[in-house]
Amino acid sequence: MENAVDLFIIGGGINGAAIAADAAGRGLSVTLCDKGDLGGATSSASSKLIHGGLRYLEQYEFTMVRKALREREILMKRAPHLIQPLQFILPYEKHLRAKWLIRIGLFLYDHLAKRTLLPRSRSLHLKKHILQAQFNTGFSYYDCLTDDSRLVIANAKSASEQGATILNYTEFVGTTREMNYWKIELRDTFSKKISYCYAKVLVNAAGPWINEVQKKINPHKQFPIQLVQGSHIVTKKLYSENHAYILQNQDGRIIFTIPFQRQFTLIGTTDHTLTTHLDNLQVGKDDIDYLCSLINFYFIKKISPQDIIWMFSGVRCLQDHPAENVSTLTREHKLDLTIENTLPILTIIGGKLTTHRILAEEAMQQLNSFFPKMKPAWTAHTFLPGGRLHQNNFIDFYQTLLRNKPWLPEDLAYRYAKSYGSDAYTLLKNIHSISDLGKSFGSDLFEHEVNYLITHEWAKTTEDILWRRTKLGLLISHSVQFFHDS
Ligand SMILES: Cc1cc2nc3c(=O)[nH]c(=O)nc-3n(C[C@H](O)[C@H](O)[C@H](O)COP(=O)(O)OP(=O)(O)OC[C@H]3O[C@@H](n4cnc5c(N)ncnc54)[C@H](O)[C@@H]3O)c2cc1C
Repeated sequence: MENAVDLFIIGGGINGAAIAADAAGRGLSVTLCDKGDLGGATSSASSKLIHGGLRYLEQYEFTMVRKALREREILMKRAPHLIQPLQFILPYEKHLRAKWLIRIGLFLYDHLAKRTLLPRSRSLHLKKHILQAQFNTGFSYYDCLTDDSRLVIANAKSASEQGATILNYTEFVGTTREMNYWKIELRDTFSKKISYCYAKVLVNAAGPWINEVQKKINPHKQFPIQLVQGSHIVTKKLYSENHAYILQNQDGRIIFTIPFQRQFTLIGTTDHTLTTHLDNLQVGKDDIDYLCSLINFYFIKKISPQDIIWMFSGVRCLQDHPAENVSTLTREHKLDLTIENTLPILTIIGGKLTTHRILAEEAMQQLNSFFPKMKPAWTAHTFLPGGRLHQNNFIDFYQTLLRNKPWLPEDLAYRYAKSYGSDAYTLLKNIHSISDLGKSFGSDLFEHEVNYLITHEWAKTTEDILWRRTKLGLLISHSVQFFHDS
């Protein structure tokens, strides 16, 4: 079959995009489709942490935490513009967890994997002006903050630079066997036009939709999963310091307050079994009340639903375990390789944003026997697009960008440096002044960047631009439109 690819990937979230990049870099021909935008589902609705997951230690998930901590170190080097250290403060509350237990947990967290880039944990006295007076001591540890949807784009760009075809707004409709290939039916989400392509191996990386996709391949098989909805709210900055808090609810659940996009605080997450349809997620009133009341319990400054500027919900696809409650279900991923109709299909179950790179590597190991000539693993010691910064130092990079482009306002230079890393120079090629950036859409979004996002980053709707490629939806009037169809 002349136009057949080696790998066809269904789902352009972080896992699909990472597998596409890894496979393309090993010399395989790859096509990836997503029925919506790249990273448009779970992978833009996370807490945006690259972390081991301190709380999973209580569930004895040592192997998973160690793997995630190792990945944290690797990813900080792969994409220093997108992944930055973040200090977390855990206020101490005697009746919730004993000091010795927290100290042991943090000691393990510091030492489970090699840690060369982040400071170790310690206990500390808390500043008086942020939290209620009774929270006067606590603990500090470090994890990392990322921009989840931009991390997806960086992986998709890596795939595309190595020859992969990336099709967003293209739905996988079904598949049949034709000769020794999957014949795949696709539908353009906007025009509804049907097209076909052929592949040797299918990858189902549809996240929470894996069973819906599986139904279109073999309706007799379904994966045992639980779908768990989590919501976040965003308010104006709750405090000016640049650290996060990890706050414990009286029932043991935790939430984070995370500095977000310089002017805001991201608060979340909730965790409960999905009860609505996957394509129609909404943040429930109970979730909003829970998040606001936990903030009001800890902070001097009070918030109410009126203070919410943005909110979003996502759904984790977790391996099922009937005995567990949703907060304690394992976050470990599982790869299922099956032969359907004599053809191979690999399904990705679960996972974390943090472990996308290693998950992709494991996926390729599973597919080794189908592609014996493919090149070896390569992603652990290479940069993601935009990630090659001088001495891996983001601040140096940003200051050099400012020096090289003295006409750029500081905030805009910072945003370009953070979003695009070294690709900021590609974005700014042949641009010598603010007026060269073209029409302004408000805040610091200019026509030139919009065109760049359309031509280099698959942006096709106003939402893609305002809420995923950038987060300028937080600042720009919602009436702005870049496309007729959005
Ligand atoms: C509330 C919440 C907070 C989280 N916080 C963190 C965190 O801080 N750190 C961390 O490491 N992890 C976190 N996670 C986990 C992490 O976000 C997910 O594991 C990860 O995003 C899953 O990526 P994915 O690619 O598997 O799925 P998704 O991102 O959901 O991608 C699946 C894609 O498949 C597409 N698709 C579905 N059906 C079809 C079809 N028929 N045709 C074509 N495409 C289709 C969808 O449109 C979607 O884009 C969090 C998850 C949630 C829900």
